[in-house]
Amino acid sequence: MMAQYLDIKSGYPDALLFYRMGDFYEMFFDDAVAAAEALDIALTKRGKHLGEDIAMCGVPVHAAEGYLLTLIRKGFRVAIAEQMEDPAEAKKRGSKSVVNRDVVRLVTPGTLTEESLLDARRHNFLAAYATIRDEGALAWVDISTGALSVMPCTAMRLGPELARLGAREVLLPEAIESEFADLVSDLGAASTSLAGSAFDSTGGEARLCKLFSVSSLDGFGAFGRVEISALAGLVEYLEITQRGKLPLLRPPVREGVRASMQIDAATRRSLELTSAMAGGRAGSLLGTVDRTVTSAGARLLERRISAPSRQLDVIRARQDAVAFAVEQTRLSADLRDALRQVADVDRALSRLSLERGGPRDMAGLRNSLAQAEQIATRLDGVDLPDLLREAAGDLVGHDDLLELLDAALIAEPPLLARDGGFIAPGYDEELDEARRLRDEGRSVIAGMQADFVSATGISSLKIKHNNVLGYFIETTATHAEKMLSPPLSETFIHRQTTASQVRFTTVELSDLETRILNAGSRALEIEKRLYSKLREAILANAAVLSNLARALSEFDLATALADLASARDWCRPQVDDSRAFDIVGGRHPVVEDALRKDGAPFVANDCDLSSASIHLLTGPNMAGKSTYLRQNALIAVLAQIGSYVPADSAHVGIVSQLFSRVGASDDLARGRSTFMVEMVETAAILNQADDRALVILDEIGRGTATYDGLSIAWATLEHLHEVNRCRALFATHYHEMSALAGKLEGVENATVAVKEWEGDVVFLHEVRQGTADRSYGVQVARLAGLPDAVIERARVVLEALEKGEREGDGSRQAVIDDLPLFAAAPKPVSPVKHQASEVEGRLRDVLPDELTPREALALVYELKGLV
Ligand code: ADP
Repeated sequence: MMAQYLDIKSGYPDALLFYRMGDFYEMFFDDAVAAAEALDIALTKRGKHLGEDIAMCGVPVHAAEGYLLTLIRKGFRVAIAEQMEDPAEAKKRGSKSVVNRDVVRLVTPGTLTEESLLDARRHNFLAAYATIRDEGALAWVDISTGALSVMPCTAMRLGPELARLGAREVLLPEAIESEFADLVSDLGAASTSLAGSAFDSTGGEARLCKLFSVSSLDGFGAFGRVEISALAGLVEYLEITQRGKLPLLRPPVREGVRASMQIDAATRRSLELTSAMAGGRAGSLLGTVDRTVTSAGARLLERRISAPSRQLDVIRARQDAVAFAVEQTRLSADLRDALRQVADVDRALSRLSLERGGPRDMAGLRNSLAQAEQIATRLDGVDLPDLLREAAGDLVGHDDLLELLDAALIAEPPLLARDGGFIAPGYDEELDEARRLRDEGRSVIAGMQADFVSATGISSLKIKHNNVLGYFIETTATHAEKMLSPPLSETFIHRQTTASQVRFTTVELSDLETRILNAGSRALEIEKRLYSKLREAILANAAVLSNLARALSEFDLATALADLASARDWCRPQVDDSRAFDIVGGRHPVVEDALRKDGAPFVANDCDLSSASIHLLTGPNMAGKSTYLRQNALIAVLAQIGSYVPADSAHVGIVSQLFSRVGASDDLARGRSTFMVEMVETAAILNQADDRALVILDEIGRGTATYDGLSIAWATLEHLHEVNRCRALFATHYHEMSALAGKLEGVENATVAVKEWEGDVVFLHEVRQGTADRSYGVQVARLAGLPDAVIERARVVLEALEKGEREGDGSRQAVIDDLPLFAAAPKPVSPVKHQASEVEGRLRDVLPDELTPREALALVYELKGLV
């Protein structure tokens, strides 16, 4: 057995091998050590190999999915080796024969299909990147839905595109793996290298043609050689991991580079488009606006938000669909009710095609077809906008399949086909007959038990069943004597004696058992045959079912966005190809939602970049600058996915690229400081932004000395104005920069208003023209709970510095030197045992006559802090 194990394992050196032994998957050697640690399960030993103990651990087959999920999340790949024959078969070959085993599947992050391993509302993309000379292409597939796409992609664009897809695993040709592996892992994906031959475009083309049964791929689009190469790599890997069983793939769709708004990874992160900073969907734009009722609808919304369109006709068609649903409230509500009962058609299809599906998937399809029919009936005679009319066309024409599934399946079938019991009575005569025999047998057994009780006079006698003995008669040891002696012993044949029971059979009982068993296994066999037929019928309709799934998700998304727009009072933005960006009464959907939960109002703000295309925003911390910046970026995203937007009115000229840098965070893992990260990201914007871009910069230059920071921010703004000529919102705490508005045409100052009240600052969250009068840093620090002593001291220092600046008498250093003697910073609170002496020591240093009243007060605070 070990020889067989090592042989199989040698084919999968990079994966953990799950080696099937009866009801367990066992792991050995280093695999066992790694898995035991990752799964927190017991590590044991089994036999010796080359004189050393063999480490072993195992997981029960019925619970394997959970363990698989943990392993995949922790970055492992798992090869699953199953027993390919009945152990009895192996025994027939000789007592020492080992059961045949083979790997049936390699489980990797990008190739999951199980419901329990996937997030229903998210895509799980596997991507492949190929290059030929200086051209590149990226192909990707969600094998759990079969959607396959490809696009030209330069090395520069690879990061942003992978970030858009949120790819889980990226395949790279060996030769370029090292070049891109870091980029891939930084995005949280696994990188997998494949031999260059996997990406061969000539062989690949032939293989793709065969896969889609066409003589040329031209019908699907004009694919370049490098695009075919990337597609070929994907398909090759699917064959490796699925061991020859290809999932149901839809023909490749070629995506144009200019079709969608370009958004890089840093921008996605900072705008929290599909996942929040803290990770997860909650708190992201996607999490906040998602009101879809089907998983496929949720995935469609994720795709749209990840790649807002740049095509006017596409955007307007989507807007029309939402507008229609906004107006037709009643109809939309009905559609949503029907959609709630729709299953995940794409994923069910994919599981069925990979032979991992079951009767429940079929029932899900049946229910979805039934709902689709209802929806189509409801839409009869309704004047639909183009997008929905087209979708409605895909909802009908499935009567035959629906009838077949309706007739064949019971209402709520089991998950797996294995144990039968899912075909409806009345569907197949032979099956009904076999089932009747089997069930009758069971009732005959009940009658037989009564007969035995009266024949023996033992009222506690029972007929039972287990897997070892089959049916048997059981009685307690006390009554056994009677049955073991004549005349009863002539009928009752002894089978087994346990601690307290004795078991018998009779000729009559074992005959009946054979009949029941035969009927039962015959019924099961028939069901399995019918299951295959149903599966074939479904897969023959795979293409139209895919279209149906897409149509349902369009209806879901349009009605979900309409529901949101009505509930939140959003407006339909005017989108065109001008350079306008004019938002009236705009709100931040996520912050507004959070505030609403606390019962606080959100202050709506305008933003008009149409004439002055760069706004320079100043205002204290906490005033609402970042919120304002981001809300305008999010409004652009929402407008271009075809949604309504959180504003009273909005006019958005198509945004080609969206850039946002908001408070860069440290990237210590890669040895970059906050400042370095910020500069790298700013460089990316300045080098790439075109005149249709929307750029949002928050506090550029914060991570360095004041004058350095100010100079960099200054030069950056000038570059955006002169070279990039884009629309931009620029927030800064360098008030000096507001002078730029007077110098550069098209740059305007704006500020977020605050009020001072009894020494405290009150945030109004209102954006106005003009500049902030001061930064209120000390007041804000006080709100944050800095000790009063520190706040007081800061006021004194600030006053001195400001006075120095106003009067222009001497350098900063001179001002600092001139600060009153009591310049020592308050000491931190010390542990209890030193307290007395510290307070005393502090007092000893004080010169009471030289203290101003304010300093005296500060001293009291300080001393109190020491107690
Ligand atoms: P800044 O970037 O100026 O430091 P933020 O944008 O982070 O400020 O806003 C600070 C807090 O103020 C937010 O968390 C939010 O609760 C609140 N806030 C911001 N903008 C508004 C607004 N328009 N209406 C109501 N509250 C707001």
